Amino acid sequence: MKHVIIGNGPAGVVAAETIRKRSPHDQIILIGAESEPPYSRMAIPYLLIGNIQESGTYLRKDQDHFKKLNIELLQAKVISVLPELKKITIDLHGQTQELAYDKLLIATGSTPIRPPIQGMDLPGIYSCWTLEDARNIHEKTDSGTRVLQMGAGFIGCIILEALASKDIQLTVVEMENRMVPRMMTQTAGQMIKKWVESKGVKVFTQTKVEKIVKEGDALKVSLSNGETLIVDTIISATGIKANIEFLKGSGIHCEKGIFVNEYMQTSIPDIYAAGDVTESIDFSTGQRMINAIQPNAADQATIAAVNMSGGVSNSTGSFQVNVLDTLGLISSSFGLWAGIDGGEHAELVDELNYKYLHLEFSDDILIGATSLGMTDHIGAMRGLIQTKVKLGHWKDKLLGDPTKVMQAYLEKGQEQASWKT
Ligand SMILES: Cc1cc2nc3c(=O)[nH]c(=O)nc-3n(C[C@H](O)[C@H](O)[C@H](O)COP(=O)(O)OP(=O)(O)OC[C@H]3O[C@@H](n4cnc5c(N)ncnc54)[C@H](O)[C@@H]3O)c2cc1C
Repeated sequence: MKHVIIGNGPAGVVAAETIRKRSPHDQIILIGAESEPPYSRMAIPYLLIGNIQESGTYLRKDQDHFKKLNIELLQAKVISVLPELKKITIDLHGQTQELAYDKLLIATGSTPIRPPIQGMDLPGIYSCWTLEDARNIHEKTDSGTRVLQMGAGFIGCIILEALASKDIQLTVVEMENRMVPRMMTQTAGQMIKKWVESKGVKVFTQTKVEKIVKEGDALKVSLSNGETLIVDTIISATGIKANIEFLKGSGIHCEKGIFVNEYMQTSIPDIYAAGDVTESIDFSTGQRMINAIQPNAADQATIAAVNMSGGVSNSTGSFQVNVLDTLGLISSSFGLWAGIDGGEHAELVDELNYKYLHLEFSDDILIGATSLGMTDHIGAMRGLIQTKVKLGHWKDKLLGDPTKVMQAYLEKGQEQASWKT
């Protein structure tokens, strides 16, 4: 059996290793377009801060790891997938070649979106996505450098942490009305903004970058609020899109990402997909969603690999888990944190001490939660949402005092254990 895996990020690597464990004699080819050994994008902020060297970002530290597992690494860009021939075409050092497969996994991840703004192609504007980006940013952010970060979403806030650790003048521009808008409630997003500002970072929300022009060695940035900024470097963190362009004409069903079922199968037999590139079923809503976080990539890759190697494994749905450290303030959100029509919620707000807890209910089931500066509740909130346990009388108690969430979790856990015995 010949397994071909396109993409050597966390999803590709976990899948290759899982297949090897289950099928010692199968052929496994792991293809990646970038020149470095398989690495973790998650580790890039630590590289920028200087906590690790580039080699510290590598997913497997032993140079011979893949050789020992008889997993063939191939540096090539995949150009197309030809399911009717069970082949892919690759660009290998400028030569187009075909490669046959029995089972194919697509784990090509995603790429930053460059917003259509005048001047976005000027030198000095970087994404923070690849090791190459990290090298550029490191080189262009000396002490005193004026840096503008566009976007304050999940990735934006992670990068912000790394940038703020340098002695630079940092301004953040976010077009929504709060920070981390797709992960945090209005109140929590505003509290994060206040926290970041208290650490010396200038933040503009509800503001767009409208135009960038070169001014000497610097960049002149016009904002929608009428202000003009002069900066040396711009980091763009304005969202991502799934890497699916090369699948045009393949017949594999894609919309924003590749549609997969609970077995991580695509619409074409023997072709699977995992990680950021997929549009899979949300655990909470049953609707399609892209859940671009590393734990999701690893979970989906394991499921795909088991099924590719003759086993049966299925997903109960992709669960929204967001945990973020923004300059030392830990925030988290889970499941349907923004609630549903007709649902109820409980909220605790302590703006002065940067503490916040918000629970969302559907009937007596906890369906979503957000927290800020209160890490001790994270496990209980996640547990209650994922088990969809009926809270009974605990719902009213939590509406009155959401900090009782751990007590509710423990009591409900004990009840369930006693039902089983
Ligand atoms: C700065 C930063 C910080 C992050 N921090 C966190 C965090 O704290 N927590 C978290 O959960 N997630 C974090 N993420 C997101 C996380 O890195 C991704 O969810 C994860 O990398 C997804 O893994 P993947 O294997 O699906 O895709 P990727 O890691 O993107 O890997 C895909 C691979 O496929 C290759 N590829 C693409 N197209 C082709 C092609 N045509 N041919 C050959 N190869 C191809 C790419 O070059 C890449 O190597 C962070 C991301 C960034 C950029």
